[in-house]
Amino acid sequence: MPAIAPSDNAEIRAAVARLCAGFPGEYWRRLDAGREYPTEFVQALTKAGYLACLIPVEYGGSGLGIAAATAILEEIHKSGGNGAACHAQMYVMGTLLRHGSAEQKSRWLPPIASGALRLQAFGVTEPSAGTDTTAIQTIAVRQGDRYVINGQKVWTSRAEHSDLMLLLARTTPRDRVAKRTDGLSVFLIDLRDARGVAIHPIRTMMNHATTQVFFENVEVPAANLIGEEGKGFRYILDGMNAERILIASECIGDARWFIAKATGYAKDRVVFDRPIGQNQGVQFPIARAYAASEAADLMVQRAAALYDAGEACAKEANMAMLLAAEASWQSADMCLQTHGGFGFAAEYDIERKFRETRLYQVAPISTNLILAYLAEHVLGLPRSY
Ligand SMILES: Cc1cc2nc3c(=O)[nH]c(=O)nc-3n(C[C@H](O)[C@H](O)[C@H](O)COP(=O)(O)OP(=O)(O)OC[C@H]3O[C@@H](n4cnc5c(N)ncnc54)[C@H](O)[C@@H]3O)c2cc1C
Repeated sequence: MPAIAPSDNAEIRAAVARLCAGFPGEYWRRLDAGREYPTEFVQALTKAGYLACLIPVEYGGSGLGIAAATAILEEIHKSGGNGAACHAQMYVMGTLLRHGSAEQKSRWLPPIASGALRLQAFGVTEPSAGTDTTAIQTIAVRQGDRYVINGQKVWTSRAEHSDLMLLLARTTPRDRVAKRTDGLSVFLIDLRDARGVAIHPIRTMMNHATTQVFFENVEVPAANLIGEEGKGFRYILDGMNAERILIASECIGDARWFIAKATGYAKDRVVFDRPIGQNQGVQFPIARAYAASEAADLMVQRAAALYDAGEACAKEANMAMLLAAEASWQSADMCLQTHGGFGFAAEYDIERKFRETRLYQVAPISTNLILAYLAEHVLGLPRSY
């Protein structure tokens, strides 16, 4: 059993907090209103090297590990910002790192580490397949030294702000494989030079730069296949623990922002000649949200420590995602209620963060699917679907 003592990464936290201070609520509010991408913020994070913290030193990253990455993302969210514009630059490359050839890694990872190339689009979800990933219909057919790709993805976030995309496609039809998880393959698509790719933004309830992507006879060099043909489902699953731990840390950051905001307001706002926070009906929901977020944070840190030690952590990563998403939503609801009518005013940032943090019970994975995972794979209950 590895040590799981929480690593506080205090210096990283302080440096990220200083960087985020340059991007206050007005910045995020303005972008939110126009659904604009936070280009300057992403550039600042890239320049400071934070997005390369999971890339090993030999490829130009800092190789700090996932506990440090959680500290970075938590601080961004705790400051009132949002890491979703670029968090995938940290972890999508993990599939390439773990399953790519030596040649692929030395070609692609250094420019990803420096930020010269952005690999922050991840095309898995499709409109007709939903959570049932093995039902995807995007196909890649080998023709000589190339694959020809046809199909459609949905919710491919940041595709307009990415040079590369990691794509999951079927290379053998589902009715011709022994297991439905076989016959799926992962490709690195160079979006700068991909004829036949059409990207259409989807406007959502929050500022998220998500899109639909259509592939019509898109030719990709066979050299861009990651790992072995037909084994892609396993490669994608391998990357999901990192994604869940990192996004859970964003939820912890959100929860801490909401709790700090509510606590400050409850002390200052005077109604009936006393601070509203003197009423137990106001203070207990704050205390409850605090307890929930601290408990969830312990699970995030435990999952991160196991991950960094190279131990199995699917159970912990899933529970971290579940508990942190619930804690951030509980905190959001509490914060809005604590502020009464002012919680609905855009200038307080609460309604924006409220919309933003609601996502995490649906994406990257829906809460039900985490519960189904725990029920089946941890508790040994019959598979429900
Ligand atoms: C803003 C945003 C950004 C996203 N970014 C990306 C991205 O970059 N790349 C990417 O590939 N995907 C992305 N996604 C997709 C995301 O991962 C999916 O939306 C999510 O996994 C849920 O899938 P679905 O929307 O197809 O829901 P569905 O699979 O259609 O499910 C709908 C509802 O039914 C429930 N459900 C379905 N089956 C079961 C079952 N067997 N038991 C119990 N409940 C069930 C689900 O939990 C859910 O509540 C994003 C989504 C959003 C909204």
